[in-house]
Amino acid sequence: MRRKLAAGNWKMNGLAAAVTEAAAIAAYDANGVDVLICPPATLLAQMATLPMSIGGQDCHARTSGAHTGDISAEQLADTGATYTLTGHSERRTDHGETDAMINAKTMAAFAANLTAVVCIGETLSERETNKTLTVIDTQLAGSVPDTASAANTVIAYEPVWAIGTGKVPTNDQIAQVHAHIRARLSKRFSDGADFRILYGGSVKASNATEIFGIVDVDGALVGGASLTAADFTPIIAALAAS
Ligand code: PEP
Repeated sequence: MRRKLAAGNWKMNGLAAAVTEAAAIAAYDANGVDVLICPPATLLAQMATLPMSIGGQDCHARTSGAHTGDISAEQLADTGATYTLTGHSERRTDHGETDAMINAKTMAAFAANLTAVVCIGETLSERETNKTLTVIDTQLAGSVPDTASAANTVIAYEPVWAIGTGKVPTNDQIAQVHAHIRARLSKRFSDGADFRILYGGSVKASNATEIFGIVDVDGALVGGASLTAADFTPIIAALAAS
């Protein structure tokens, strides 16, 4: 039985005052759904006191050393984080992260006892040229370590063209990719059927119920609509009801 997960990615948003929003989200009765917020690293320690999971948005592949501005998985865990995102498309684009780098970061997350939410997804031009499933295969094979399991890894399918754009794939498109990911995980890992697969990309209260009705969608990774309790709690409620 896969536990449903509503995950929020705050990206580079939020000052100390935003902890009040996180507290309101944590106070909401999630009805059995796991709730995770990945705030900026500056807010992790303050948010670690709240009754919900918190996670980093990225981690370095090494535990310590001369890597100015980076944060290690061990340091994330030290704040109270239990998850970290790896391979978000903004990291792949803004920081040139490759599948090999993401694999190393994900292994570092495992070593620090963090659950990694490994993000994969195609660009618009890749979708338009029918390369979606090939891209998914390449990213899954390259970014997800052989030591991954349902206990330490969540997969987030996030079409790059749907992130922050208000555009959402059709239900059939989401279903096709999630079924493909499930098949690949089941082939590669003995517990592949137990991995949680999240959909991400312009999830809002208005489309959440429909998306959560799709087979093999075990939750969502939400950016913009996770920043306030008013926007995020209806998404949690829709997931709980699905
Ligand atoms: C994201 O940042 O992972 C994301 C899905 O963003 P948004 O929900 O704003 O599209």
